[in-house]
Amino acid sequence: MKRFSLFTFRRVALACLLALAAALTINFDNTAASVEPQTGDGKLRIIAFGAHPDDCELSVGGAAAMWAARGHHVKLVAVTNGDIGHWREAGGPLAMRRKKEVEEASRILGTTVEVLDNHDGELMPTLENRRAIIRLIRNWKADIVLSPRPNDYHPDHRYTGVLVQDAAYMVTVPFICPETPAMKNNPIFMYYTDRFMKPNPSQPDIAVSIDSVIDKKLDALAVMESQFLEGGANGHEGLMPKNAAERTKRVAEVRRGHAARNIGVADRFRNVLKEWYGPEAAAGVKHAEAFEICEYGRRPDKAELKRLFPFFQ
Ligand SMILES: [Zn+2]
Repeated sequence: MKRFSLFTFRRVALACLLALAAALTINFDNTAASVEPQTGDGKLRIIAFGAHPDDCELSVGGAAAMWAARGHHVKLVAVTNGDIGHWREAGGPLAMRRKKEVEEASRILGTTVEVLDNHDGELMPTLENRRAIIRLIRNWKADIVLSPRPNDYHPDHRYTGVLVQDAAYMVTVPFICPETPAMKNNPIFMYYTDRFMKPNPSQPDIAVSIDSVIDKKLDALAVMESQFLEGGANGHEGLMPKNAAERTKRVAEVRRGHAARNIGVADRFRNVLKEWYGPEAAAGVKHAEAFEICEYGRRPDKAELKRLFPFFQ
């Protein structure tokens, strides 16, 4: 057997070190320059996660409708099936009712929807759930991944945020879930806005006027009667309309509430709107949605954000 000389050993060791350094550089480079959409049709691919069947629609329903209207591919994922989200009904029948509601909402918005069969109120940031999220992002070939922040009043919202954060780097690592090919380009991960102040408040990097699609968004939310017209988990008998006139009144009340939420986002983040629309146009924006870049995915510059949110022409 031929013996390696000390010189050969040193050369091999140096080559290994260089290869390792190159691999580490590639793996940790989240600031790569702008990349093309991950599929060949030139359209963007967006996947949005929410804890319950209605969270994505509330947080990104407007932008989702705007992307979809331009031919981009948007998928909304509820990470639980919502089976305790009502004051009077629960279990399998409620899960099926809520699945139908988000399917109808998705038809209105022009998106795709999937509801994962995890129990509502019991979501945990397990390895199994992390793997499910990694596979969903990879299979959708996402350019943008949206989720709640991991500080939130609801444990399912928090753990949805954690699960997506935990997937943010792993989607590019080939030997986790190796049966679903790893992504070559790390997507951009973004958070919805919320009103929680501790440990840090929401600081959106981009705010989008949804005035052109606000009716569509309100229509999509209106079909989720179990959650809004009937009040969801904290509703009560008193909310239930007893006749057609009461129903009309209740529907209008729900629509006003949802519109107010998006008016609140526009007012609160008027300065962010100004950055993207200029002061004059921003002053005229009534309803908005806003999004914050997560530090763990690829970091886009302003030019790339404009390409990913093609709403500012
Ligand atoms: Zn929720």
